[in-house]
Amino acid sequence: MALIQQCFMPLSRMVRPRTRPRFFAIASAPSSTRDSQPQQVLLGLSEKELQQLALDFGQQSYRGKQLHHLIYKRKVREIQDFSQLPIAFRNELQEAGWRVGRSPIFHTVTATDGTVKFLLKLEDNRLIETVGIPAEDDKNSVRLTACVSSQVGCPLRCSFCATGKGGFSRNLRTHEIVEQVLAIEEVFKRRVSNVVFMGMGEPMLNLKTVLEAHHCLNKDVQIGQRMITISTVGVPNTIKRLASHKLQSTLAVSLHAPNQKLRETIVPSAKSYPLEALMTDCRDYFLETSRRVSFEYALLAGVNDTVDHAAELADLLHKYGHGYHVNLIPFNPIEGSEYRRPYKKAVQAFANALESAKITVTVRQTRGLDANAACGQLRNNFQKSPLVADPDNLQSQMPVAVAC
Ligand code: SF4
Repeated sequence: MALIQQCFMPLSRMVRPRTRPRFFAIASAPSSTRDSQPQQVLLGLSEKELQQLALDFGQQSYRGKQLHHLIYKRKVREIQDFSQLPIAFRNELQEAGWRVGRSPIFHTVTATDGTVKFLLKLEDNRLIETVGIPAEDDKNSVRLTACVSSQVGCPLRCSFCATGKGGFSRNLRTHEIVEQVLAIEEVFKRRVSNVVFMGMGEPMLNLKTVLEAHHCLNKDVQIGQRMITISTVGVPNTIKRLASHKLQSTLAVSLHAPNQKLRETIVPSAKSYPLEALMTDCRDYFLETSRRVSFEYALLAGVNDTVDHAAELADLLHKYGHGYHVNLIPFNPIEGSEYRRPYKKAVQAFANALESAKITVTVRQTRGLDANAACGQLRNNFQKSPLVADPDNLQSQMPVAVAC
């Protein structure tokens, strides 16, 4: 089959060695199709790479610019719908195994506050969640935040999280992260202004791909670095790696407890990454990037929500620097969870205690509660049985999974 295709290739492709675009390895086919024709994905390639691709197909480089426009601005899903391009070029792209790399929207749920939760059905039939959150800020400008997933499920099993309870199968590929933002822009019919890596999965367990998606979202989808937040519960040795890229994006660390003992009961993976080591890495991250880490804290009634916990948290943060910001997230109830949402009074008392200790605080509004928007809830409604890890991903996740 490969030989037959070679015969029909334009001469330019046969004599000129194809430069291997940066994203090829990431955009490879899932195991089910790996033995057949290699799948090559356009989404995730830069304008320069698309120009090179056009040249490789014997086209002029401006065709690459058109490809870029069609994929990222017009959000066209199928190569055959690239109506600005010659039919012959479209056919050649398809015959060579290229596709755009967009997944169908399997299901959407809209909450009364305008939050829309999407399930995208990936090529291997796995479902991932992504959430579009519209909001007006103080200056009446409208923001649209995309909360994106980085893995199918999550191996870390934080005790309050529906995604953790649903199991883990594999890391997402670059285009599968980028397409979540494009799907939200398509449905809301406007630009996404902010991206938070706070959907399904632990971004630091898929850091290389997350960085590639970050690059693409910044350069190709044109979302400012400062508008992007990468969130983590902490994975050993990854914060240093992220710092070395000196991104202008925000690193949000999910603490959920002010001491190691309590944290281990909420975040089991904390056993392999003591709080002191995590906080030292956060301090070093600031020294390296000049970007302050922000901290996420899910408030669980009767577990970690007393003013004493707040005072202990303030002490912890002051020990490792100053000017820290804490986002308080009153727990979003999930089916079958032993945790409850704290009363507003308890949330306010916790926030006041932090503020009086000179820690700035935001109490995160619960968005899309009626759309099952707590991470993992909607997917679990459609895929009841827990996910099973893809053998290809087991190896890379193993150290943390074992530590859990
Ligand atoms: S909270 Fe985040 S890291 Fe923890 S299980 Fe859920 S998705 Fe994974």
